[in-house]
Amino acid sequence: MEICIVGTGYVGLVTGACLAEIGHRVVCVDDDREKIATLKRGELPIFEPGLDNLVTRNRGAGRLSFTADLKEGIEAATVIFICVGTPPLEDGDADLSAVEQVARRIGELSSAYKLVVEKSTVPVQTGMWIEKTLKVYGGGVNERFDVASNPEFLREGSAVEDFLHPDRIVVGVEHPRAERLLRELYEPILHRAFTCPIHSKCEKVRPVPFLVTDIKSAELIKHASNSFLATKISFMNSVADLCELVGADVELVAEGMGLDRRIGRAFLNAGLGFGGFCFPKDLQAFVKIAEKCGYDFGLLREVDRINQARIAQAIKKLKDQLWILKEKVVGVWGLAFKPDTDDVRYSPALALINRLLAEGVAVKAYDPKAMERALQQLPSLVCCQNPYEVASGADALVVATEWKEFANLDLTRVKSLMRRPLILDGRNLFDRQKMKAMGFEYLAIGR
Ligand code: NAD
Repeated sequence: MEICIVGTGYVGLVTGACLAEIGHRVVCVDDDREKIATLKRGELPIFEPGLDNLVTRNRGAGRLSFTADLKEGIEAATVIFICVGTPPLEDGDADLSAVEQVARRIGELSSAYKLVVEKSTVPVQTGMWIEKTLKVYGGGVNERFDVASNPEFLREGSAVEDFLHPDRIVVGVEHPRAERLLRELYEPILHRAFTCPIHSKCEKVRPVPFLVTDIKSAELIKHASNSFLATKISFMNSVADLCELVGADVELVAEGMGLDRRIGRAFLNAGLGFGGFCFPKDLQAFVKIAEKCGYDFGLLREVDRINQARIAQAIKKLKDQLWILKEKVVGVWGLAFKPDTDDVRYSPALALINRLLAEGVAVKAYDPKAMERALQQLPSLVCCQNPYEVASGADALVVATEWKEFANLDLTRVKSLMRRPLILDGRNLFDRQKMKAMGFEYLAIGR
């Protein structure tokens, strides 16, 4: 099939590369000309495991191309995916101006039938607005367009794997023609009819559930899913606080809870809280759209409040040990909002660093992939070549992102380099007994 992806970021580029991989012809469009130039030079603007091979191979095979010209991108396409950003506005609402702009331009530029699919995470009722916009700017002809919602559930760090081996594919449609096209498009993924580029012997053979709903329900499925996962994390952080008060271990509590199949172990990790380009903004946008529709989602406001308090609490833990923070040297391991990505948007690590800097702390940091992006946000940040350099001369170290690399460090060396062997393990990465036995002053979360 001929596909166009509008918005070539973490979601758009992965979607484009994976759809090309399963045999479609894909043109990826972005209005960031520098990004398109980078991609045309054969370089990736983001780090995502396995993505470079996919992009190179499919570009080489003529199935994947890039342009900054929307008209050129949509010309041959039957299906257009909108994958632009939907960042938060000041009041927490989703900024849908990019979605609206793209819909307007598609309306103006299309002369033949197009299925316009919203893949960006958007509040419920956005599909209705896209449909109206296409009609108004497309000269009042509705039959030329179908609109569908196809929320994306990939996770940065395992995005290619998640796209090609999803837990489910959700499509919200109002017309059987849209359902037919999306079934055809996803057919190879639904029935594993492609050679898996990730696993040489792919054992993932079970069929993928394909859930067809109306557009509004599909939109709600995405917001509700992310908000639910965020709720699990804030719930566990609250349990962690209680564990600290009574002397229990939140890791054991999570293990015990997670063995219940109704609960599951995933997303029960206590720590510095959730971040990234999805959970914080989606949670707020969900609260906002609920409010606009007349429902007060107080539960989720509390989830957000608990999450925002995590950083202040970490600072308090440091103060309780270091007394005065001013002019102390604090090393931070990890800048990305989670491991295996270079994404620092709404990263708890950066929130923590900002608070430390405001207290007059000398902060130095290291991250295997995210330092360049962190420096774009915080140009004065002192970045080190490796985690040992971060430890050198530090009064305290904070583990802010649970990269595997940090778990395998030579901790004897780390301890010998530090001015004071104090570690705040904000991700519960290390074994408490072992750290204490090694002579660290070891602070964890909920343990
Ligand atoms: P991103 O910022 O990485 O990518 C968005 C891209 O859209 C950028 O390259 C930007 O230049 C481009 N863009 C913006 N306006 C444009 C326009 N008018 N025309 C053409 N291109 C335009 O964002 P992302 O992380 O890929 O997220 C995109 C959407 O997908 C968001 O709604 C997000 O909530 C959702 N989502 C993200 C993830 C994730 O893990 N990142 C997962 C699921 C869903």
